[in-house]
Amino acid sequence: MSVGEDSGAPVIEAPIIEIAGLSKHYGPIAAVDKVDLTIRRGEFFALLGPSGCGKTTLLRMLAGLELPTAGTIRIDGQDMSRVPANRRPVNMVFQSYAVFPHMSVLDNVAYGLRVDGIAKAEAHRRAEEALDLVKLGGYGKRRPDQLSGGQRQRVALARALVKRPKVLLLDEPLSALDAKLREQMRFELVNLQESVGITFVVVTHDQDEALSMATRIAVMDNGTVQQTAPPAELYEFPSTKFVADFIGSVNLIEGRVAESAAGLVRMTAPALQVPVEIEQEAGMPVGATGWLALRPEKVDISRDPPEDGGRNTVVGTVEEITYLGDVSIFHVRLTADQPLIKVTIANLDRVTRRPFTWGDRVHLSWAPTCGVVLAQ
Ligand code: ATP
Repeated sequence: MSVGEDSGAPVIEAPIIEIAGLSKHYGPIAAVDKVDLTIRRGEFFALLGPSGCGKTTLLRMLAGLELPTAGTIRIDGQDMSRVPANRRPVNMVFQSYAVFPHMSVLDNVAYGLRVDGIAKAEAHRRAEEALDLVKLGGYGKRRPDQLSGGQRQRVALARALVKRPKVLLLDEPLSALDAKLREQMRFELVNLQESVGITFVVVTHDQDEALSMATRIAVMDNGTVQQTAPPAELYEFPSTKFVADFIGSVNLIEGRVAESAAGLVRMTAPALQVPVEIEQEAGMPVGATGWLALRPEKVDISRDPPEDGGRNTVVGTVEEITYLGDVSIFHVRLTADQPLIKVTIANLDRVTRRPFTWGDRVHLSWAPTCGVVLAQ
């Protein structure tokens, strides 16, 4: 999103991709099911979801590699129904970063331009420009097998960018790289996107990747888009149980709405010993069943009751402890037959002594601004 400050009012960039009622059926399987989505010019947009949710099928329909069963795609205002893949203003970078092994890096990057009939000297000049962009200036004469995995991935990016597409589609672009390199390439992709200003649409099943790179994310499940929002909004205000569970770690506590008014939801739950209060607009109807989604790092854990007398305070026993280096997760049993509540504590000090141990009685509490109540 780009926000113009000089006019006083925020200016939202015009859409570059408009998807309406888009479906793709393979026999009885609805791989993509009536999706509506708008992607704005200059966005770094991520399609995120578990394996089989339909994100690759959606990306391939944008590229023109699959035909929709129903619905429309407009790119830069133009209906794509009759536009074949090679005439669309998009380019795709594949997971396996398909580079030609027998060609030099420069020829690899220039290849698409040469196929389009652009003279060799001009194609090479533009290929060198694209290699500079991905920080591979000077590598043109090498063959792909003389490059590292990260460098080969950058060649694939340069090859896609050299044709100056309006939209770059990236299918799990970092999945073939090892963990360290993947993290480094996230920054590089974001910097590259900012410097070229082209809209990026990236498919990933890796939430960290989506959260760290994208300006907005569409979370998909079962062929449908569950929620589209910037990363922090998805994390703090998930709109469905699926999104709350898929993004980060969460305690999902089933209950019933006892009161809902003036931006406050009061909820009772078999797992909780007291009714709890959550500040939330757009209240749910009284009597409705729902889920309290509570992030483990937002729960306070203490041996004594909290000093403020504690709204949203429950008592339990530490049953399991998971040490993860930077944080420890305490799993607390509140009642015999309900799932344990996870509480994350940052290990800020180099102390080996744990603040709590197995079997300790502890108080858990959280502010009404922590957590959201979600419909079934
Ligand atoms: P992954 O992360 O595993 O690649 P995905 O979210 O990208 O998964 P898709 O590849 O889009 O998911 O597949 C969505 C659904 O459509 C899956 O159930 C898949 O089995 C099915 N599907 C995809 N392509 C075909 C095909 N050519 N024929 C039949 N079914 C297909």
